Amino acid sequence: MSDDKQKVKKTELEARRKRVNRLKKIIVIIVVVCLLLPSVLCLALWMKVAHLERQMNTIVENYGVRQQSLKKDTAYAADVKKQKKMDLSEEDQTKIKGKKVYLTFDDGPSENTEKILKILDEYDVKATFFVIGQTDEYSKKLYQKIYAQGHTLAMHSYTHQYQKIYKSLFAYKKDLSRLSDLLFETVGVRPKFVRFPGGSSNTVSNIDMKDVIRYLKKEGYIYFDWNVINGDATGENLTKEEMVNNVISGVKQYDTSIVLMHDSAGKEKTVETLPTILKKLKKMKVSVLAINNTTIPVQHIKAEEVE
Ligand SMILES: [Zn+2]
Repeated sequence: MSDDKQKVKKTELEARRKRVNRLKKIIVIIVVVCLLLPSVLCLALWMKVAHLERQMNTIVENYGVRQQSLKKDTAYAADVKKQKKMDLSEEDQTKIKGKKVYLTFDDGPSENTEKILKILDEYDVKATFFVIGQTDEYSKKLYQKIYAQGHTLAMHSYTHQYQKIYKSLFAYKKDLSRLSDLLFETVGVRPKFVRFPGGSSNTVSNIDMKDVIRYLKKEGYIYFDWNVINGDATGENLTKEEMVNNVISGVKQYDTSIVLMHDSAGKEKTVETLPTILKKLKKMKVSVLAINNTTIPVQHIKAEEVE
């Protein structure tokens, strides 16, 4: 009897242990789910916000460039009319000689950077890259490669997020010095040429751009806007021919052309049109150069007019 009793007790204990274990498991699962679920949701939300921010930046950038090109179109409407798709006669060729063309690529490094570098190398020309902040190893190698190949490494913005960088002068300074630090750590240089996201005449900044310009001047930075665009950020889906024509007809108008293009994912057409543009520029016998200390800056808000 006592043996049986002991057996029963043992079985009861066993069953109880099992119940406790099961309960423990359930509690652990509940705790894990409670911890994990909000984290996963947070991550998903964060990714969504980042995606939306990127979209907003593109929209704002496109808008800025579009406004610029519209302004330019109005200002030079007369010239353009006169020009009307002129072919390069010999007279034009001589007129064009001595012109300086600075090709500039914003928003890199990207998956297109190496392709751009290869083409520039094939045509033996140097360009300027206004880069943003990227800390992955591939991007860091690209900063180094741009510099090592003799192109001008210049600064655009670390985050390129308008609502962040143009929130206050302090925020702008912080963003720029963060990029300067990253490039100094990666390449060993602190670039002095800068391009504002959206340009100096952007209409999205919360701060007076003149305050930012004053700061840049004080620190010895030189900023560059543009007077020629290939149209890869106008928001219109231009054909390759239109993009080439934008650059060539723009270059014809100025002694110094600063050509705005983009080095970013999705701007494959910019890469594809580059050889044609370079071929035409070579034929026009213009000098294709990287921005340097002797370059006369193109500025929508002129630095010299800001006291
Ligand atoms: Zn940009």
